[in-house]
Amino acid sequence: MYNCIMKAKRTGEGNVKTKHVSNAAARDEVSHDLKRRKKLDKPAQTQKERVFELVRSGKADTVSEISGILNLSKMSVYRYVRALAHEGKISKTFNKLYPYSEAEIAGEKSPVTGKCEICSKQITDERLKVVINFKDGRKLQFCCAHCAIIAAVHSVDDLNSISSIMGMDFIYGNPLDIRNGFLLFKTDVIPCCSPPILVFARQSNAERFQAGFGGDIISFDDIISHMKF
Ligand SMILES: [Zn+2]
Ligand SMILES: [Zn+2]
Repeated sequence: MYNCIMKAKRTGEGNVKTKHVSNAAARDEVSHDLKRRKKLDKPAQTQKERVFELVRSGKADTVSEISGILNLSKMSVYRYVRALAHEGKISKTFNKLYPYSEAEIAGEKSPVTGKCEICSKQITDERLKVVINFKDGRKLQFCCAHCAIIAAVHSVDDLNSISSIMGMDFIYGNPLDIRNGFLLFKTDVIPCCSPPILVFARQSNAERFQAGFGGDIISFDDIISHMKF
């Protein structure tokens, strides 16, 4: 306001009052412009949320799919994916992206409760437990990968309705989608159901375990297409 009066005096044209009004209008214009710019800035954050939403809902599970849907460069998608993985919201294994379960996002360890959907055994071991998360939000929990895979083979009509099958690395206990894991089948170590299927995030660890306790290392796809218990 001080500025505008000075300006009016300096130029000597028009009266101070009109000048003030028009300046106020200009200021409004600027503040609108700022708001607009803020809105434009915001998508940088919203895009990350959009990326997360696509992964969470199972609409996309690869960087190129997301890049196509959101019309973003793959580099940008990688940046968001890295940030989301860092925040523990999604897991990135090989070329696929998976959401961590809601409980994991909230940072709370889900208590080991409930019964296995297949064998009705009380679930007691968090490290062996496997949860099938469906895209529609349903969840099924199992005592171990053996039962989860039986369920996937025999009682899930459409494997595409699954958004993730979360289990844990047998050695380190890190959560992973067992569809990306190295599954050690029929090893001598039988911590739950037989034949056992132990889950490893890394092939090298599966191989070292196999060297000691035997078994066959297979992928989830192998097991789904060939497994007949
Ligand atoms: Zn079971
Ligand atoms: Zn079991």
